[in-house]
Amino acid sequence: YEDLRSVGKTLGTTVNHGAGISKQLIGEALKSRVEAVDPDTCDAGDEDAFFVADLGEVYRQHMRWKKNLARVKPHYAVKCNPDPQVLRLMIELGLGFDCASKNEIDTVLNLGVDPSRIIYAQPCKTNAYVRHAAQAGVKQMTFDNTDELYKTKRLSPDAELYLRILTDDSQSLCRLSQKFGASLDSTAELLELAKKLELNVVGVAFHVGSGASDPKAFIKAVQDARFVFDQAAALGFNMHTLDVGGGFTGDDTFEPMAAVLSASLDHYFPPHIRVIGEPGRYYVSTAFTIACHIIARRTVTDATLGTTSYMLYLNDGVYGNFSSIIFDHQNPVPRVLKCGNDVLYNVRRSGYDTPSQAEYSIWGPTCDGIDIVSSSCTFPEVLDVGDWLYFEDMGAYTKCSATRFNGFTNSHDVVYICSEPGAKALLGL
Ligand code: PLP
Repeated sequence: YEDLRSVGKTLGTTVNHGAGISKQLIGEALKSRVEAVDPDTCDAGDEDAFFVADLGEVYRQHMRWKKNLARVKPHYAVKCNPDPQVLRLMIELGLGFDCASKNEIDTVLNLGVDPSRIIYAQPCKTNAYVRHAAQAGVKQMTFDNTDELYKTKRLSPDAELYLRILTDDSQSLCRLSQKFGASLDSTAELLELAKKLELNVVGVAFHVGSGASDPKAFIKAVQDARFVFDQAAALGFNMHTLDVGGGFTGDDTFEPMAAVLSASLDHYFPPHIRVIGEPGRYYVSTAFTIACHIIARRTVTDATLGTTSYMLYLNDGVYGNFSSIIFDHQNPVPRVLKCGNDVLYNVRRSGYDTPSQAEYSIWGPTCDGIDIVSSSCTFPEVLDVGDWLYFEDMGAYTKCSATRFNGFTNSHDVVYICSEPGAKALLGL
């Protein structure tokens, strides 16, 4: 990862140059696209939801990572958002990749990434995928149980194995430890079996849960990893790498979380131990904004209370890119993008915030009652069919888990912009 370091050196000075113009560029991209759509005459599909992705934001997050977690070499968790332009930029930035399946491995390899930059970070793998990974030269992989060790011995005996340990993920958005991770009272047995099978265990991996909020989870996990490193040394293994997984959010908790993790790493692991991480949402969450079209409206009057509210139906919902509501426990915030002839992205218009506000609920396009995007929000009482809403922070665990339920597409256009000169230079834009 010498290239990672040199890229940082050359481009470090450009960090944040584009932060100020990011909103402006996103606004321009949203505006030109929605203004081109006339809902009364457009072809079916022209009014589909679409993303605007600011690759500059991915770049800024990377520089922020390097500043705060210099010791941890990021291996982006492809599952979070396998967008090809995002992956291209990450390759140029020198990241490694955490892949969870054959498809993810192939996606990254087909972009020209050396197999040594990939970790197959899934402790319970498909036989054929293990064979495929071995043939492709992907050696790093995780395990947390005896059956997987026997499988590895048969299908990828030269693998470089990471023993994934259990963590306290109780303060995270998406808990993983009920499914994966060896408890500390089973690690000795696993290491002994690996020794007997003459497998190469090179390190320990953990994940404190996606969307983690308690830095103490990292401290405990690093301490536990130290314990397993020592166990392994006693059995004759020479572990050289610690994988601290993902769990980082891109919000203001990142810096303090990173400070706690860095201090624990330095306390428990000498500098010659290589440290990698598997961040997902941290890198992409804020980079993607989605625009959705209002396809239908129902007016709901309550004669007793004398009130009127509205149900708005969008052309995207929880079976689509808002799958994050169900799977990732998110609450995307609706904002008005286009109302009548006015484009209102990131703008407060006088006269728009009028006293005549109304209550809206926002629904997806499928037949299912579960398909609700927001149960209550307040906007001026003028929103109607043909208008557009937008939602920020839609880059993580959104389009990757969208379905085609009810025949709707799960492949939406992405309009790319780039607010960082450094990222533009790397991508040749
Ligand atoms: N690594 C593994 C093994 C995971 O299961 C996940 C998410 O589920 C990640 C990394 C990425 O996590 P995050 O998006 O919280 O950084």
